Amino acid sequence: MIAVRGAQIIDGTGRDPVRDAAVRFDGDRIAEIGPVRPGDEVIDMEGCTILPGLIDAHVHFGLASPIDPMMAKELSIAERAADMFRVCRDTLHQGFTTVRDTGGIDWGLLKAVDSGQIPGPRILCCGAILAQTGGHAHYTSPNECVHEWRSRELPGLTTLSVLCDSPDQVRAAARDNYRRGASFLKMNITGGVISLTDSLDDTQFTVPEIEAAVIEAQARRSYVTVHAHNTQGIRNGIAAGARCVEHGTDIDEELAEEMAALGVHLVPTLAVMHIHARDFEDMSLHDEVRARFSGVEEKMARAIKVATDAGVLVGSGTDYVGPKQDNRGLEIALRAEIVGPMKAIMAATSVNAEIIGLADQVGTLEPGKFADVVAVDFDPLAEPGLFADSGRTALVVKGGDVVRNDRAGAR
Ligand SMILES: [Zn+2]
Repeated sequence: MIAVRGAQIIDGTGRDPVRDAAVRFDGDRIAEIGPVRPGDEVIDMEGCTILPGLIDAHVHFGLASPIDPMMAKELSIAERAADMFRVCRDTLHQGFTTVRDTGGIDWGLLKAVDSGQIPGPRILCCGAILAQTGGHAHYTSPNECVHEWRSRELPGLTTLSVLCDSPDQVRAAARDNYRRGASFLKMNITGGVISLTDSLDDTQFTVPEIEAAVIEAQARRSYVTVHAHNTQGIRNGIAAGARCVEHGTDIDEELAEEMAALGVHLVPTLAVMHIHARDFEDMSLHDEVRARFSGVEEKMARAIKVATDAGVLVGSGTDYVGPKQDNRGLEIALRAEIVGPMKAIMAATSVNAEIIGLADQVGTLEPGKFADVVAVDFDPLAEPGLFADSGRTALVVKGGDVVRNDRAGAR
Protein backbone atom coordinates (compact mmCIF):
# COMPACT_ATOMS: atom_id res chain seq x y z
CA MET A 1 0.00 0.00 0.00
CA ILE A 2 1.01 3.59 -0.47
CA ALA A 3 1.06 5.76 2.65
CA VAL A 4 1.16 9.57 2.49
CA ARG A 5 2.58 10.97 5.70
CA GLY A 6 2.93 14.59 6.83
CA ALA A 7 2.79 16.82 9.89
CA GLN A 8 -0.99 16.61 10.18
CA ILE A 9 -4.08 15.42 8.33
CA ILE A 10 -7.17 17.58 7.88
CA ASP A 11 -9.74 15.13 6.56
CA GLY A 12 -12.37 17.57 5.21
CA THR A 13 -15.14 16.52 7.61
CA GLY A 14 -14.51 19.44 9.97
CA ARG A 15 -12.91 17.20 12.61
CA ASP A 16 -9.74 18.44 14.32
CA PRO A 17 -6.45 17.67 12.55
CA VAL A 18 -4.85 14.29 13.23
CA ARG A 19 -1.12 13.98 13.87
CA ASP A 20 1.19 10.96 13.50
CA ALA A 21 -1.01 9.28 10.91
CA ALA A 22 -0.89 8.55 7.20
CA VAL A 23 -3.42 8.29 4.38
CA ARG A 24 -3.04 4.70 3.16
CA PHE A 25 -4.42 3.67 -0.20
CA ASP A 26 -4.42 0.68 -2.44
CA GLY A 27 -5.29 1.27 -6.07
CA ASP A 28 -7.66 4.18 -6.52
CA ARG A 29 -9.40 4.04 -3.12
CA ILE A 30 -8.47 5.06 0.42
CA ALA A 31 -8.03 2.06 2.70
CA GLU A 32 -7.29 3.68 6.03
CA ILE A 33 -6.21 6.77 7.93
CA GLY A 34 -3.80 5.28 10.40
CA PRO A 35 -0.20 4.40 11.18
CA VAL A 36 2.31 3.51 8.47
CA ARG A 37 2.51 -0.27 8.37
CA PRO A 38 5.40 -2.59 7.46
CA GLY A 39 5.72 -2.96 3.72
CA ASP A 40 4.06 0.39 2.94
CA GLU A 41 5.55 2.52 0.22
CA VAL A 42 5.84 5.82 2.10
CA ILE A 43 5.46 9.22 0.44
CA ASP A 44 7.00 11.41 3.11
CA MET A 45 5.62 14.96 3.07
CA GLU A 46 7.44 16.04 6.19
CA GLY A 47 6.13 19.29 7.63
CA CYS A 48 3.17 19.36 5.25
CA THR A 49 -0.55 19.28 5.92
CA ILE A 50 -2.43 16.50 4.13
CA LEU A 51 -5.88 17.40 2.76
CA PRO A 52 -8.50 15.76 0.58
CA GLY A 53 -8.22 16.62 -3.11
CA LEU A 54 -9.79 20.06 -3.47
CA ILE A 55 -13.02 20.66 -5.40
CA ASP A 56 -13.87 23.76 -7.43
CA ALA A 57 -17.64 23.84 -7.98
CA HIS A 58 -17.61 26.64 -10.55
CA VAL A 59 -15.07 26.50 -13.38
CA HIS A 60 -15.13 27.35 -17.09
CA PHE A 61 -12.55 25.19 -18.85
CA GLY A 62 -14.13 26.11 -22.19
CA LEU A 63 -13.31 29.80 -21.62
CA ALA A 64 -9.56 29.32 -21.34
CA SER A 65 -8.46 31.73 -24.09
CA PRO A 66 -8.40 35.56 -24.13
CA ILE A 67 -12.11 36.40 -24.06
CA ASP A 68 -12.51 39.04 -26.73
CA PRO A 69 -10.38 37.41 -29.47
CA MET A 70 -12.13 34.12 -28.68
CA MET A 71 -15.59 35.63 -29.03
CA ALA A 72 -14.53 37.48 -32.19
CA LYS A 73 -13.57 34.07 -33.66
CA GLU A 74 -9.97 35.16 -34.14
CA LEU A 75 -8.59 31.98 -32.56
CA SER A 76 -8.34 28.59 -34.25
CA ILE A 77 -9.99 25.50 -32.83
CA ALA A 78 -6.49 24.11 -32.16
CA GLU A 79 -5.55 27.16 -30.10
CA ARG A 80 -8.81 26.98 -28.17
CA ALA A 81 -8.23 23.29 -27.43
CA ALA A 82 -4.62 23.90 -26.41
CA ASP A 83 -5.71 26.56 -23.92
CA MET A 84 -8.40 24.28 -22.52
CA PHE A 85 -6.01 21.36 -22.07
CA ARG A 86 -3.47 23.63 -20.36
CA VAL A 87 -6.00 25.02 -17.89
CA CYS A 88 -7.33 21.52 -17.25
CA ARG A 89 -3.85 20.20 -16.42
CA ASP A 90 -2.87 23.25 -14.34
CA THR A 91 -6.05 22.98 -12.27
CA LEU A 92 -5.16 19.41 -11.33
CA HIS A 93 -1.60 20.41 -10.47
CA GLN A 94 -2.93 23.15 -8.19
CA GLY A 95 -4.54 20.41 -6.08
CA PHE A 96 -8.07 20.45 -7.49
CA THR A 97 -8.88 16.83 -8.24
CA THR A 98 -12.60 17.37 -8.95
CA VAL A 99 -14.36 20.26 -10.68
CA ARG A 100 -17.86 21.15 -11.76
CA ASP A 101 -17.80 23.04 -15.05
CA THR A 102 -20.68 25.51 -15.05
CA GLY A 103 -20.80 26.25 -18.73
CA GLY A 104 -18.89 25.70 -21.92
CA ILE A 105 -17.63 22.13 -22.24
CA ASP A 106 -19.26 18.85 -23.18
CA TRP A 107 -18.42 15.15 -23.33
CA GLY A 108 -15.35 15.78 -25.52
CA LEU A 109 -13.07 17.12 -22.80
CA LEU A 110 -14.48 14.63 -20.27
CA LYS A 111 -13.53 11.75 -22.57
CA ALA A 112 -10.07 13.15 -23.26
CA VAL A 113 -9.38 13.37 -19.52
CA ASP A 114 -10.98 10.01 -18.70
CA SER A 115 -8.82 8.30 -21.31
CA GLY A 116 -5.71 9.66 -19.59
CA GLN A 117 -4.48 11.57 -22.66
CA ILE A 118 -5.10 14.97 -21.10
CA PRO A 119 -4.17 15.36 -17.41
CA GLY A 120 -7.03 16.91 -15.49
CA PRO A 121 -9.39 16.63 -12.55
CA ARG A 122 -12.52 14.50 -12.66
CA ILE A 123 -15.09 16.76 -14.27
CA LEU A 124 -18.83 17.16 -14.12
CA CYS A 125 -20.26 19.45 -16.80
CA CYS A 126 -23.54 21.09 -17.76
CA GLY A 127 -22.83 21.52 -21.45
CA ALA A 128 -23.89 24.88 -22.87
CA ILE A 129 -25.39 27.46 -20.51
CA LEU A 130 -29.11 28.02 -21.07
CA ALA A 131 -29.34 31.76 -21.78
CA GLN A 132 -32.05 34.03 -23.09
CA THR A 133 -31.47 36.18 -26.15
CA GLY A 134 -29.52 39.24 -25.04
CA GLY A 135 -28.99 37.74 -21.59
CA HIS A 136 -25.85 36.90 -19.65
CA ALA A 137 -23.66 34.52 -21.73
CA HIS A 138 -25.00 35.91 -25.01
CA TYR A 139 -21.65 37.64 -25.05
CA THR A 140 -21.38 39.49 -28.31
CA SER A 141 -21.81 42.89 -29.90
CA PRO A 142 -25.34 44.24 -30.34
CA ASN A 143 -24.25 44.84 -33.96
CA GLU A 144 -24.28 41.11 -34.64
CA CYS A 145 -27.37 39.26 -35.96
CA VAL A 146 -28.81 36.93 -33.35
CA HIS A 147 -28.53 33.80 -35.53
CA GLU A 148 -24.75 34.28 -35.77
CA TRP A 149 -24.31 33.37 -32.09
CA ARG A 150 -24.60 29.67 -32.92
CA SER A 151 -21.68 29.86 -35.34
CA ARG A 152 -19.41 29.72 -32.26
CA GLU A 153 -20.56 26.22 -31.32
CA LEU A 154 -17.78 23.64 -31.43
CA PRO A 155 -19.54 20.38 -30.49
CA GLY A 156 -17.16 17.96 -28.84
CA LEU A 157 -14.99 20.82 -27.60
CA THR A 158 -16.84 23.89 -26.33
CA THR A 159 -20.12 25.78 -26.66
CA LEU A 160 -20.58 28.65 -24.24
CA SER A 161 -24.34 29.05 -24.35
CA VAL A 162 -27.48 28.16 -26.23
CA LEU A 163 -30.15 30.81 -26.62
CA CYS A 164 -33.70 29.80 -25.75
CA ASP A 165 -36.77 32.00 -25.42
CA SER A 166 -39.73 29.81 -24.49
CA PRO A 167 -40.33 26.73 -22.35
CA ASP A 168 -40.23 24.61 -25.49
CA GLN A 169 -36.87 26.01 -26.55
CA VAL A 170 -35.52 25.52 -23.02
CA ARG A 171 -36.73 21.92 -23.09
CA ALA A 172 -35.04 21.21 -26.42
CA ALA A 173 -31.78 22.85 -25.30
CA ALA A 174 -31.81 20.95 -22.00
CA ARG A 175 -32.34 17.64 -23.76
CA ASP A 176 -29.49 18.36 -26.13
CA ASN A 177 -27.17 19.22 -23.24
CA TYR A 178 -27.88 15.86 -21.63
CA ARG A 179 -27.30 14.18 -24.99
CA ARG A 180 -23.88 15.85 -25.06
CA GLY A 181 -22.72 14.66 -21.64
CA ALA A 182 -24.23 17.07 -19.14
CA SER A 183 -24.92 15.76 -15.64
CA PHE A 184 -26.77 18.91 -14.53
CA LEU A 185 -28.11 22.11 -16.12
CA LYS A 186 -26.99 25.70 -15.70
CA MET A 187 -29.34 28.56 -16.46
CA ASN A 188 -28.53 32.28 -16.36
CA ILE A 189 -31.54 33.92 -14.71
CA THR A 190 -30.18 37.39 -13.89
CA GLY A 191 -27.77 39.79 -15.52
CA GLY A 192 -24.08 39.17 -15.01
CA VAL A 193 -20.95 41.11 -14.23
CA ILE A 194 -19.20 40.67 -17.58
CA SER A 195 -22.32 41.14 -19.73
CA LEU A 196 -22.56 43.88 -22.29
CA THR A 197 -26.31 44.13 -22.80
CA ASP A 198 -27.95 43.60 -19.41
CA SER A 199 -27.87 44.89 -15.85
CA LEU A 200 -27.02 43.00 -12.66
CA ASP A 201 -30.48 43.97 -11.39
CA ASP A 202 -32.32 42.38 -14.34
CA THR A 203 -34.10 39.10 -14.04
CA GLN A 204 -33.85 36.76 -17.04
CA PHE A 205 -36.16 33.94 -18.12
CA THR A 206 -39.70 33.56 -16.76
CA VAL A 207 -40.59 31.07 -14.05
CA PRO A 208 -42.28 28.72 -16.59
CA GLU A 209 -39.10 28.77 -18.69
CA ILE A 210 -36.96 27.85 -15.67
CA GLU A 211 -39.50 25.19 -14.74
CA ALA A 212 -39.10 23.59 -18.16
CA ALA A 213 -35.40 23.04 -17.39
CA VAL A 214 -36.17 21.75 -13.88
CA ILE A 215 -38.64 19.18 -15.27
CA GLU A 216 -36.01 17.90 -17.73
CA ALA A 217 -33.44 17.70 -14.94
CA GLN A 218 -35.75 15.92 -12.52
CA ALA A 219 -36.64 13.36 -15.18
CA ARG A 220 -32.97 12.34 -15.07
CA ARG A 221 -32.53 12.59 -11.26
CA SER A 222 -30.40 15.64 -12.02
CA TYR A 223 -30.78 19.31 -11.04
CA VAL A 224 -30.67 22.89 -12.26
CA THR A 225 -28.25 25.45 -10.90
CA VAL A 226 -28.91 29.10 -11.66
CA HIS A 227 -26.55 31.99 -12.21
CA ALA A 228 -28.24 34.70 -10.13
CA HIS A 229 -27.06 37.88 -8.42
CA ASN A 230 -30.26 39.68 -7.34
CA THR A 231 -32.98 38.51 -4.96
CA GLN A 232 -35.91 38.60 -7.39
CA GLY A 233 -33.99 36.39 -9.81
CA ILE A 234 -33.10 33.94 -7.06
CA ARG A 235 -36.76 33.86 -5.95
CA ASN A 236 -37.80 33.02 -9.53
CA GLY A 237 -35.29 30.19 -9.61
CA ILE A 238 -36.42 28.78 -6.27
CA ALA A 239 -40.09 29.03 -7.27
CA ALA A 240 -39.31 26.99 -10.37
CA GLY A 241 -37.47 24.30 -8.38
CA ALA A 242 -33.81 25.15 -8.99
CA ARG A 243 -31.60 23.37 -6.45
CA CYS A 244 -28.47 25.52 -6.47
CA VAL A 245 -27.60 29.20 -6.86
CA GLU A 246 -24.29 30.46 -8.32
CA HIS A 247 -22.91 33.82 -7.02
CA GLY A 248 -25.94 34.83 -4.88
CA THR A 249 -24.56 38.35 -4.39
CA ASP A 250 -27.64 40.05 -2.91
CA ILE A 251 -28.90 37.25 -0.64
CA ASP A 252 -30.40 38.73 2.53
CA GLU A 253 -31.61 37.14 5.78
CA GLU A 254 -35.14 36.47 4.56
CA LEU A 255 -34.05 34.84 1.31
CA ALA A 256 -31.37 32.82 3.12
CA GLU A 257 -34.06 31.40 5.43
CA GLU A 258 -36.16 30.40 2.40
CA MET A 259 -33.18 28.74 0.72
CA ALA A 260 -32.29 26.82 3.88
CA ALA A 261 -35.88 25.64 4.35
CA LEU A 262 -36.04 24.34 0.77
CA GLY A 263 -32.53 22.84 0.74
CA VAL A 264 -31.30 25.18 -1.99
CA HIS A 265 -27.48 25.35 -2.08
CA LEU A 266 -25.22 28.32 -2.76
CA VAL A 267 -21.91 28.47 -4.62
CA PRO A 268 -20.35 31.91 -4.13
CA THR A 269 -17.47 33.02 -6.33
CA LEU A 270 -15.25 35.52 -4.55
CA ALA A 271 -11.95 34.95 -6.33
CA VAL A 272 -13.10 36.07 -9.76
CA MET A 273 -14.44 39.31 -8.32
CA HIS A 274 -11.22 39.85 -6.39
CA ILE A 275 -8.99 39.23 -9.39
CA HIS A 276 -11.06 41.30 -11.80
CA ALA A 277 -11.00 44.20 -9.41
CA ARG A 278 -7.22 43.84 -9.09
CA ASP A 279 -6.03 42.76 -12.56
CA PHE A 280 -8.66 44.15 -14.86
CA GLU A 281 -6.11 45.03 -17.56
CA ASP A 282 -5.12 41.35 -17.99
CA MET A 283 -8.66 40.18 -18.67
CA SER A 284 -9.10 41.55 -22.20
CA LEU A 285 -12.61 42.65 -21.31
CA HIS A 286 -14.47 45.71 -22.50
CA ASP A 287 -13.88 48.89 -20.52
CA GLU A 288 -17.56 49.33 -19.70
CA VAL A 289 -17.44 46.08 -17.72
CA ARG A 290 -15.03 47.56 -15.16
CA ALA A 291 -17.65 49.55 -13.23
CA ARG A 292 -19.85 46.47 -12.90
CA PHE A 293 -17.35 44.80 -10.58
CA SER A 294 -17.44 47.52 -7.97
CA GLY A 295 -18.87 46.45 -4.63
CA VAL A 296 -19.82 42.92 -5.78
CA GLU A 297 -17.13 41.13 -3.74
CA GLU A 298 -18.17 42.94 -0.55
CA LYS A 299 -21.84 42.16 -1.08
CA MET A 300 -21.04 38.53 -1.82
CA ALA A 301 -19.03 38.26 1.40
CA ARG A 302 -22.07 39.47 3.31
CA ALA A 303 -24.33 37.01 1.47
CA ILE A 304 -21.99 34.16 2.47
CA LYS A 305 -22.23 35.15 6.13
CA VAL A 306 -26.01 35.45 6.02
CA ALA A 307 -26.48 32.17 4.15
CA THR A 308 -24.07 30.29 6.42
CA ASP A 309 -25.86 31.58 9.53
CA ALA A 310 -29.23 30.51 8.11
CA GLY A 311 -27.97 26.97 7.54
CA VAL A 312 -27.65 27.02 3.74
CA LEU A 313 -25.08 24.57 2.38
CA VAL A 314 -22.48 27.00 0.98
CA GLY A 315 -19.90 25.57 -1.43
CA SER A 316 -16.96 27.21 -3.16
CA GLY A 317 -16.11 28.16 -6.75
CA THR A 318 -13.61 30.38 -8.53
CA ASP A 319 -15.48 31.18 -11.78
CA TYR A 320 -12.16 31.98 -13.47
CA VAL A 321 -12.38 32.79 -17.17
CA GLY A 322 -9.66 33.63 -19.66
CA PRO A 323 -6.13 32.26 -20.09
CA LYS A 324 -4.94 32.96 -16.54
CA GLN A 325 -6.69 30.45 -14.29
CA ASP A 326 -3.97 29.93 -11.72
CA ASN A 327 -4.03 29.99 -7.91
CA ARG A 328 -7.59 28.71 -7.56
CA GLY A 329 -6.92 28.32 -3.84
CA LEU A 330 -7.46 32.09 -3.59
CA GLU A 331 -11.15 31.24 -3.18
CA ILE A 332 -10.33 29.31 0.00
CA ALA A 333 -8.06 32.11 1.27
CA LEU A 334 -10.77 34.75 0.75
CA ARG A 335 -13.44 32.53 2.24
CA ALA A 336 -11.35 31.90 5.36
CA GLU A 337 -11.44 35.64 6.08
CA ILE A 338 -15.25 35.40 6.30
CA VAL A 339 -15.96 32.04 7.97
CA GLY A 340 -12.57 30.91 9.31
CA PRO A 341 -10.11 28.40 7.84
CA MET A 342 -11.80 25.11 8.77
CA LYS A 343 -15.16 26.07 7.24
CA ALA A 344 -13.36 27.43 4.16
CA ILE A 345 -11.57 24.09 3.71
CA MET A 346 -14.84 22.18 4.17
CA ALA A 347 -16.54 24.38 1.56
CA ALA A 348 -13.91 23.34 -1.00
CA THR A 349 -13.99 19.67 0.00
CA SER A 350 -16.89 17.90 1.76
CA VAL A 351 -19.51 20.62 1.20
CA ASN A 352 -18.71 20.96 -2.49
CA ALA A 353 -18.80 17.17 -2.80
CA GLU A 354 -22.32 17.15 -1.41
CA ILE A 355 -23.48 20.02 -3.65
CA ILE A 356 -22.17 18.36 -6.81
CA GLY A 357 -23.62 14.99 -5.81
CA LEU A 358 -20.37 13.09 -5.23
CA ALA A 359 -20.33 13.00 -1.42
CA ASP A 360 -19.91 9.20 -1.41
CA GLN A 361 -16.87 9.38 -3.71
CA VAL A 362 -14.77 12.48 -2.94
CA GLY A 363 -14.43 15.43 -0.55
CA THR A 364 -13.08 13.73 2.59
CA LEU A 365 -10.21 11.44 3.51
CA GLU A 366 -12.22 8.39 4.54
CA PRO A 367 -11.95 4.68 3.67
CA GLY A 368 -13.72 3.73 0.43
CA LYS A 369 -13.47 7.16 -1.19
CA PHE A 370 -11.21 7.98 -4.12
CA ALA A 371 -7.58 8.38 -3.10
CA ASP A 372 -7.56 12.09 -3.96
CA VAL A 373 -4.91 13.53 -1.67
CA VAL A 374 -3.16 16.89 -1.54
CA ALA A 375 -0.27 18.13 0.60
CA VAL A 376 0.48 21.80 1.20
CA ASP A 377 3.69 23.01 2.86
CA PHE A 378 1.94 25.28 5.39
CA ASP A 379 -0.54 25.00 8.22
CA PRO A 380 -3.90 25.94 6.63
CA LEU A 381 -5.52 26.59 10.00
CA ALA A 382 -2.79 29.06 11.01
CA GLU A 383 -2.12 30.69 7.62
CA PRO A 384 -5.08 30.05 5.29
CA GLY A 385 -4.03 33.04 3.15
CA LEU A 386 -1.26 30.83 1.70
CA PHE A 387 -3.90 28.83 -0.21
CA ALA A 388 -3.74 31.75 -2.65
CA ASP A 389 -0.30 30.54 -3.79
CA SER A 390 -0.54 27.19 -5.55
CA GLY A 391 3.26 27.02 -5.45
CA ARG A 392 2.72 25.91 -1.85
CA THR A 393 1.05 22.72 -3.07
CA ALA A 394 3.66 19.99 -2.76
CA LEU A 395 1.77 16.80 -3.64
CA VAL A 396 -1.30 15.93 -5.70
CA VAL A 397 -2.71 12.42 -5.91
CA LYS A 398 -5.81 11.74 -8.02
CA GLY A 399 -7.48 8.35 -7.71
CA GLY A 400 -4.26 6.83 -6.36
CA ASP A 401 -2.06 8.27 -9.15
CA VAL A 402 0.65 10.67 -8.02
CA VAL A 403 0.32 13.53 -10.51
CA ARG A 404 2.60 16.00 -8.73
CA ASN A 405 5.26 15.47 -6.07
CA ASP A 406 7.61 18.39 -5.60
CA ARG A 407 9.62 16.46 -3.00
CA ALA A 408 10.35 13.49 -5.23
CA GLY A 409 12.97 15.30 -7.35
CA ALA A 410 14.62 16.79 -4.28
CA ARG A 411 15.70 13.46 -2.86
ZN1 LIG B 1 -19.50 31.31 -14.22
